[in-house]
Amino acid sequence: MAAAALSQYFGRYLSIVLVESEEIGIVGVGEATIPQIRLFNAGLGLDEREFLRETMGTFKLGIEFVGWRREGMRYFHGFGEVGRAIGLVPFHHYWLRYAREGGPLPLDRFSPNTMAARENRYGVPANARAARLPASAYHFDAARYAAFLRRYAEARGVTRREGKVVNVRLDGESGFIVGLDLADGGRIDGDLFVDCSGFRGLLIEQALAAGYEDWSHWLPCDRALAVPSTGDGKLEPYTRSTARDAGWQWHIPLRHRTGNGHVYSSSFTTDDEAQRVLLANLPGERLADPRPLRFVTGKRREIWKRNCVALGLASGFLEPLESTSIHLIQAGIARLLALFPDRHCDPVLVREFNRQIDWEFTAVRDFLILHYHVTERDGSEFWRYCRAMPIPESLQEKLAMFRSSGRIVRQNMELFDTPSWLQVMWGQGLRPEGHHPMVDAASAADLARYIAMNERETSEQVASLSDHAAYLARLVASDASAPLARPAEVAG
Ligand SMILES: Cc1cc2nc3c(=O)[nH]c(=O)nc-3n(C[C@H](O)[C@H](O)[C@H](O)COP(=O)(O)OP(=O)(O)OC[C@H]3O[C@@H](n4cnc5c(N)ncnc54)[C@H](O)[C@@H]3O)c2cc1C
Repeated sequence: MAAAALSQYFGRYLSIVLVESEEIGIVGVGEATIPQIRLFNAGLGLDEREFLRETMGTFKLGIEFVGWRREGMRYFHGFGEVGRAIGLVPFHHYWLRYAREGGPLPLDRFSPNTMAARENRYGVPANARAARLPASAYHFDAARYAAFLRRYAEARGVTRREGKVVNVRLDGESGFIVGLDLADGGRIDGDLFVDCSGFRGLLIEQALAAGYEDWSHWLPCDRALAVPSTGDGKLEPYTRSTARDAGWQWHIPLRHRTGNGHVYSSSFTTDDEAQRVLLANLPGERLADPRPLRFVTGKRREIWKRNCVALGLASGFLEPLESTSIHLIQAGIARLLALFPDRHCDPVLVREFNRQIDWEFTAVRDFLILHYHVTERDGSEFWRYCRAMPIPESLQEKLAMFRSSGRIVRQNMELFDTPSWLQVMWGQGLRPEGHHPMVDAASAADLARYIAMNERETSEQVASLSDHAAYLARLVASDASAPLARPAEVAG
């Protein structure tokens, strides 16, 4: 992603060398994304049809959470809006009054994505201009995406060097990285180094000792088992996350297979039991042996240090519950482009980058903790721990504000906006005691009209969509004449 973006935005002005080792390989398990990926692909000028063909991709409208509030209950975190705000007051405040006064329609009925997902629908609505759909992302085969972007970068002048880095040379005075030594005797010198070496953090940690902030006391899952299987024939346009006794299981429908994984905490279950649970809950036939992965949730203390910027797993890892890792790579690249240095790497740019990316990680971290902490599950040690654990002050404040008056404040343009926090807080069972007082200024008749208008708009949009599998099949088989969702419609 970094080589592709740098080559697209700088052209041949920069001389970019991409070092990869086939012997080491990639993690390759990132399969679900969030809508911002469309902006990244659009920035590269990728054709959506070609991208979906190459990566065996499907569309994603959100995530269905099964059993997270308690066993037997489910809710949906859909991308995009939930109802239309009136001025400064978000829709849900009006809906809270409506529900308190006995209104029967649940919150879901105002989320086009949730309603479309329930019916396995996708497409571009008839009245695309006025529509709130599609706010969507993709599921894709990460190994195919990496290969696709490698070809893209090479076509734009990036030199790809196969080889294993065995030594990182530092300047004795400044501590800057001056070059890399490869196992085959090759040497690569440079001015700026982007560490994309995965969990090992070959440059940022092993050479520059940036340090690591461990957040596993808040997010105790530290292992995963990933296994592909055949699908269940439904090709749902959403990810499913099912709570398990010591973690959760993902279900990601791709065109050629389904991605499955069990994310769990080694303090609360064994690897054997985790594997048993995963294999007992596959939607189809298993296509390979489960692949074990280990991680420590957290982030580097300095993600940019001297002349080295870490991206991806080298910069930190927040578990995949809300599919945010690929986005954090994208966010790092966007900031690197915005603050791109000269060869001296002005410390003021480095500090600004670290401030912004630290904030991004922290805000996502809080959103993830919400899913674990606000729950009624108490059937296992793991969930009892999550319910009782102390949480960061920033999250305490968010929960307190929602609980008292239904308010959700988006800080510093954090990644997840009001509709995301709303759907997850509500879905996990948190109920506000009040709502915004401005809502009470509306007459009962106006409130009823407003609610009915929002409900009608949502159902009309959803009704105008196609079956997801049929839409996708048409799209990947089509040439430039098929309608494409435009990135401008999907932000958020
Ligand atoms: C269980 C799990 C589930 C995930 N699910 C999602 C998801 O649904 N959505 C999402 O957005 N993200 C997800 N992620 C994260 C996602 O997989 C990663 O963010 C993404 O794959 C990027 O990985 P990376 O490039 O940072 O590291 P890697 O894939 O590990 O790549 C490291 C690269 O560095 C090279 N390398 C390493 N050492 C050397 C060396 N000595 N010499 C030369 N080359 C070297 C390797 O060859 C490789 O090319 C998940 C991660 C895990 C662990």
